Amino acid sequence: SRSGETLLETRGLVKEFGGLVATDDVSIDVKRGERVSIIGPNGAGKSTLINLITRRLEPTRGDILFKGESIVQMEPHQVVQRGISKSFQTASIFPDLTVMENAQIAALAAEHGEFGFNFLTHRDKLTDVHELAEDTLEAVGLLDRAHNDAEDLPYGDKRRLEIGIALAAEPDLLLMDEPTAGMSPEETQATVDLIEEVKEEMGLTFVLVEHDMEIVFSISDRIVVLNRGGVIAEGTPEEIRGDPAVQEAYLGG
Ligand code: ADP
Ligand code: MG
Repeated sequence: SRSGETLLETRGLVKEFGGLVATDDVSIDVKRGERVSIIGPNGAGKSTLINLITRRLEPTRGDILFKGESIVQMEPHQVVQRGISKSFQTASIFPDLTVMENAQIAALAAEHGEFGFNFLTHRDKLTDVHELAEDTLEAVGLLDRAHNDAEDLPYGDKRRLEIGIALAAEPDLLLMDEPTAGMSPEETQATVDLIEEVKEEMGLTFVLVEHDMEIVFSISDRIVVLNRGGVIAEGTPEEIRGDPAVQEAYLGG
């Protein structure tokens, strides 16, 4: 629905850490339904850009629009409430709770727009979101583990639960920063398959930071290349593959 609509837009975004320009006048846009990857060498500013979008970091200058509305003055939880969710933060899992409770809390927390949402005071409401939580767990292949404690899940399933937690918030835009970091080749493949499935089934819009070029080229509609904080190239996987500026940046030029 409303595909082609600009979902996210950064305008002249700058982030300085002391004298270091981590984000250098970045203007990008992401349309609804689009899958955009952000690549670039270590220290290029990829995570900084993601953290500016989630409002975990304060920009030095510039604006961020989401669905046409500036979010640059908002609190992180307000950004979540408006439909931006970041996945693959291990800290988002409550280890002592079951897989199902984790998904239910994620759904409720997004509804209430609170990140540090206190589920103990809302425990009776968990059943309200049971169906959504169940659908989410099914989508990430964890329904048969719904009643396991989250801490007992193997590593790969924990990462699945993290994406489940992000999806339970029913985001319009999912941000992922190096989702396959620290994974075995098998877990990496399973995660890529999962992202592909979610992309097909839910038509999800996402921005992915990923260093594995094979994954990037197979999963993206468009690629943004950062170097030293600035955008040096932008285009389809085919365009980026042959771009000399990209090759130079990756060769340490
Ligand atoms: P990437 O994710 O592309 O590897 P980052 O966005 O993490 O790059 O970092 C970009 C630059 O900003 C790097 O030079 C990094 O050292 C610096 N940087 C990141 N976060 C901070 C911070 N909190 N304080 C100071 N410098 C930072
Ligand atoms: Mg990073």
